[in-house]
Amino acid sequence: MSNYIVLVKQVPDVSQITDNAFDPETGTLVRSRLASVINELDAQALAFANKMRQDSSDEAGKIIALSMGPPMAEEVLRYSLSRSADIVILLTDRALGGADTVATANPLAFAIRKIVKEILKNDNDYYVITGMQSVDGDTAQVPAQIAEELNLPCIAYVTDAQFKNNRFEFTRIISGGSQIVAAKKLPAVITVAKYEYPLFATFSRTRWANKTQVIHWAASDINAAHIGVTGSKTSVIRVFPPGKSTRKCQQISDAESLAKILVESFKSGNGQAGKNGQAQAPQYVLPNKRASLFNRNFEGTKKEQADYEILSGKLQKLGITRTNQIDDSSKEKILEAAGEHFHKKALEDMIEGFKLAKPSFEGEVWIVAEHSDGVVHPATFELIGKAHELADSLETKVGVAIAGFNVEPMAKELIAAGADSIYIIEDKLLGVFDPTAHRKAIADAISTYWPQIVLYAATPQGRMLAPMVSYRVSCGLTADCTGLDIKDSSRKGDIGLLLQTRPALGGNVMATIRTKNSRSQMATARPGVMKRIPPDPSRKGKIIRHKVKLTEDDVNLEIIKTELGTGQVDFNADVIVSGGKGMQSRDNYEQLLSLLCDAMSKRLDTQVERGASRAAVEQGFIERVHQVGQTGTSIGPKLYVALGISGAIQHMIGVANTETIVAINSDPNAPIFKQCDYYIVGTVEDIVPSLVQALE
Ligand SMILES: Cc1cc2nc3c(=O)[nH]c(=O)nc-3n(C[C@H](O)[C@H](O)[C@H](O)COP(=O)(O)OP(=O)(O)OC[C@H]3O[C@@H](n4cnc5c(N)ncnc54)[C@H](O)[C@@H]3O)c2cc1C
Repeated sequence: MSNYIVLVKQVPDVSQITDNAFDPETGTLVRSRLASVINELDAQALAFANKMRQDSSDEAGKIIALSMGPPMAEEVLRYSLSRSADIVILLTDRALGGADTVATANPLAFAIRKIVKEILKNDNDYYVITGMQSVDGDTAQVPAQIAEELNLPCIAYVTDAQFKNNRFEFTRIISGGSQIVAAKKLPAVITVAKYEYPLFATFSRTRWANKTQVIHWAASDINAAHIGVTGSKTSVIRVFPPGKSTRKCQQISDAESLAKILVESFKSGNGQAGKNGQAQAPQYVLPNKRASLFNRNFEGTKKEQADYEILSGKLQKLGITRTNQIDDSSKEKILEAAGEHFHKKALEDMIEGFKLAKPSFEGEVWIVAEHSDGVVHPATFELIGKAHELADSLETKVGVAIAGFNVEPMAKELIAAGADSIYIIEDKLLGVFDPTAHRKAIADAISTYWPQIVLYAATPQGRMLAPMVSYRVSCGLTADCTGLDIKDSSRKGDIGLLLQTRPALGGNVMATIRTKNSRSQMATARPGVMKRIPPDPSRKGKIIRHKVKLTEDDVNLEIIKTELGTGQVDFNADVIVSGGKGMQSRDNYEQLLSLLCDAMSKRLDTQVERGASRAAVEQGFIERVHQVGQTGTSIGPKLYVALGISGAIQHMIGVANTETIVAINSDPNAPIFKQCDYYIVGTVEDIVPSLVQALE
């Protein structure tokens, strides 16, 4: 009999954001102005646990919902009771607030230990089921870090479970397809990416839920090792509104006008390919290479920069060029010039900061390579490009850690792409990606060589591996970064830090984060954002073979079946037309895409390729190899036409480098309309035939 510990979180309702939710001064989101709801994926996880209990005909198995949050998070526990939970526990304490993912995963893992001991009476036949990620954090790190703390297998991005031969087989999303796996041992952590059969509360169950006791635990009840702000290994240093989309987002009223725009955009290439990357910031220079030690123009926040400008201006006027020339009388003059800007303590801190010139972290800049069947994932090459820029600034080298079996042939390509050293960890047991075996291998290499920065691709694999590795080596980790810069931070002068910028709250705010209390700074970076540098086959690099002792016990998953896309697709075509779930059927997809692709090919005199969303592939509209997106192919055509595609982030990541994006969708509020250049509101059945006619 299995039991199910389901993690549920109360989050702001980001689907209902109005302008009123933003602070008019700073443009950032005010969380308290949004209603609170259960994290949608956690509601799906609850339904998923219920399905597992039913499918295994195990009605005696308990569903225990656990939440960490303020007292009002009781609401999501009552929600859980009214659907399927038998017991609910709220971990609530001010001391737990302000936590990053480490300081969230750690107390949750300690609470799970307490549940197992006191409620399950040490019965180890249980699953921890949780949503893949929460909409406020969007990190997907907590479940993997809980698994790491409890030393459990973790199966992430699960979309289905089948009870066969007395155990569960899980279908999960992987790069390029999907996979069916089973945990070799229980307990196990499962993260749910999609389960579309919600549970509804009955009247009687709701009444029962309202009367049932919510168990409250405080920090002192669980005695976790890392909690709250002090237990965190990252801190947010700046929150700011996301930049406006550089896409035109222009609504077109009829198919004829759209046909003209398609032709013009194709000919003129008036889109924005290549603009997707970050604006080129001046390259960071270490303090001892700057004209003066007082040059702190690269300092973190705006306020700090302004303070430094006042200070350095005054120092210049006073003719001071070395810190030991600053005496009490010059300090007085500086404070006078600063007026209200800063006071004595801040001045002392800045002077202390001037004395520092050595980077706060030491070592190489590393990339953890992702690969499959002897082919390196494109995102790894993009990261090597970025690592090069960071390493140049920090005057260090680029290392690539690659774990697997027969991986050495890939070293040459990695060196040509910009790596200086390749750290190879070879073992038969690393032949296929198993999170626990791979995290052991990579963590061992990291804790031997201690690079100062470690970057992973924010692919399903990278977002699974990175949290386990970082937790294992006690380092902070930032998820899904879209910006990585070296800067000095804080008045006391932390030098050469990796500042990690990422979207949060469903892309409604951006946050810049730094690592603290860690020997290495770690981040996963969104594929398609960083730029690959042109390969140089003449580059030379070192190969370092790193041995790690692995046994069968380190492999936690049994891989039952892997389904990857096969066949030929030419995604280098200038025009790609993709169909989504909104195509409704395979026949519709086939018929409407044939019509439009032919008409565009003739009219534009170019090759047109077919693409699809993951949902369309899962519906069987077209073969997997046509999938565009994070776990499909990233493309950069001149023209991309999206038919019946909603614009989920995992899809749009794959088309970020497209020049012009055109969308046809029947929903006037489809998210894709905010991420494209031209759109038309209407059904594909209506618009596509008229568009074809207009093109002809
Ligand atoms: C780890 C992970 C990786 C993923 N990787 C990818 C990936 O690589 N690529 C990818 O695409 N997705 C990926 N996804 C899935 C992604 O989150 C979305 O679920 C998916 O992109 C949705 O596809 P869709 O837009 O076709 O379907 P839906 O989101 O269901 O949208 C269908 C759209 O069609 C519109 N529509 C309906 N009927 C019509 C009509 N008659 N005419 C016009 N419009 C109509 C609707 O308004 C809606 O906007 C991934 C998810 C996870 C968790």
